[in-house]
Amino acid sequence: MIKEDIRTLGLTRVVVAACSPLMHELTFRTACEEAGLNRYLFQMANVREHCSWVHNDRVEATAKATDLGRAAVFRVRLHEPMQVSRVPINANSLILGGGISGIQAALEIANAGYPVYLVDREPTIGGNMAYFDKTFPTLDCSACILTPKMVSVGHRKNIKLFTWSEVVGISGYIGNFKVKIHKKARYVDPEICTGCGQCWSNCPSVRIPHRRTIMLGEKQVIYRTRKDPGRLLG
Ligand SMILES: Cc1cc2nc3c(=O)[nH]c(=O)nc-3n(C[C@H](O)[C@H](O)[C@H](O)COP(=O)(O)OP(=O)(O)OC[C@H]3O[C@@H](n4cnc5c(N)ncnc54)[C@H](O)[C@@H]3O)c2cc1C
Repeated sequence: MIKEDIRTLGLTRVVVAACSPLMHELTFRTACEEAGLNRYLFQMANVREHCSWVHNDRVEATAKATDLGRAAVFRVRLHEPMQVSRVPINANSLILGGGISGIQAALEIANAGYPVYLVDREPTIGGNMAYFDKTFPTLDCSACILTPKMVSVGHRKNIKLFTWSEVVGISGYIGNFKVKIHKKARYVDPEICTGCGQCWSNCPSVRIPHRRTIMLGEKQVIYRTRKDPGRLLG
């Protein structure tokens, strides 16, 4: 019917008030295209998930649905015809946050053969899970799950790990992002440090402890992270 209306009435824009765009936007865009209308001159108003499924008051929900429809009509007037083009993309991934989810994502992507940059603002990856003894609800041993994955990340050649680092700038667009990472100072040369711990035990200076270990007392200026005892940080 939509196709027929586009053809017979010469429609220049189409709005459908129905379910979520995820479900059927593609269907309606394709219908527009098949009737000779640019596929992007279409707008969907989601009156299901955004309205009928989440409200009890029928009168208010109907008013909201009307508003959503109006907004879609207003918006579609601003659409411009676009064409799909193909551009080369950079398949490298950057994952922000090396908790269990970031670690798992990094391993999955690396296993699929793509390079990964894993960035964590803390001195080590592991996130919250590194602080648990057991995980709820299964009471599995946290370290038994997490540690092999952390080690795996360190061993994977196509995962470049940036701990004690933060993203300070993102530019570009989907498929071609450029990310600027600020690597915080270590004060220890990681290439030379063997992790023997001599400097740690002899360090004369103390400082205010890290926010998470505040209950554990004072900390030397140089220390090993609790989650990654092999790593010294100045
Ligand atoms: C006390 C406590 C107990 C919990 N117990 C359970 C449990 O028993 N079972 C369960 O399933 N879940 C539990 N949870 C929830 C649990 O934290 C999550 O299930 C799991 O650890 C989340 O992993 P994640 O990787 O998504 O996030 P996180 O473990 O929070 O990791 C996020 C990582 O991102 C890094 N990060 C954050 N912001 C930035 C930034 N801007 N730049 C760079 N890096 C950044 C952090 O340093 C961290 O390493 C608990 C949470 C808490 C706080």
